[in-house]
Amino acid sequence: MVKRVAIIGAGVSGLTSIKSCLDEGLEPTCFERSDDIGGLWKFKPDVEEGRASIYQSVIMNTSKEMSCFSDFPMPEDFPNFLHNSKLLAYFKIFVKKFNLLKYIRFQPTKCLRLCVRLWFPLRNGSSL
Ligand SMILES: Cc1cc2nc3c(=O)[nH]c(=O)nc-3n(C[C@H](O)[C@H](O)[C@H](O)COP(=O)(O)OP(=O)(O)OC[C@H]3O[C@@H](n4cnc5c(N)ncnc54)[C@H](O)[C@@H]3O)c2cc1C
Repeated sequence: MVKRVAIIGAGVSGLTSIKSCLDEGLEPTCFERSDDIGGLWKFKPDVEEGRASIYQSVIMNTSKEMSCFSDFPMPEDFPNFLHNSKLLAYFKIFVKKFNLLKYIRFQPTKCLRLCVRLWFPLRNGSSL
């Protein structure tokens, strides 16, 4: 049976999680509370309660070689240090290339309550 995975947020962590799940044969569903991908890198002029944002002129302080997905280099014509709009554009190219959009549910109407269960194997063979 295929294992289903819930991913919270379609920022860069969520996007790469969707792709990794697919690479491993898992079935991801990503729940994004806003109306777009990109998380922090989706610039919006208005402040939204509970949402981190950047200011309009932000440029990355990490290079495109260090910041790209390991299996998906940034376009050659992109500058070495990207303006936030270029980084968002890169995320959108990534999503399109790997057809990830269909795994994302934007603005889910139901609030998710997550139950996280941690499992620690012990040296004596039992678990905690
Ligand atoms: C000002 C600033 C500059 C930065 N510059 C760099 C840089 O140059 N280079 C670098 O590598 N890193 C930089 N970072 C680090 C940055 O945190 C990462 O680049 C990246 O944005 C983190 O991605 P993320 O997906 O973990 O989180 P986010 O980008 O914050 O995305 C989280 C997503 O989850 C959604 N979400 C949150 N809670 C819920 C919920 N309960 N239900 C549904 N959806 C939810 C949000 O709407 C959002 O879309 C910077 C950070 C800041 C604040």
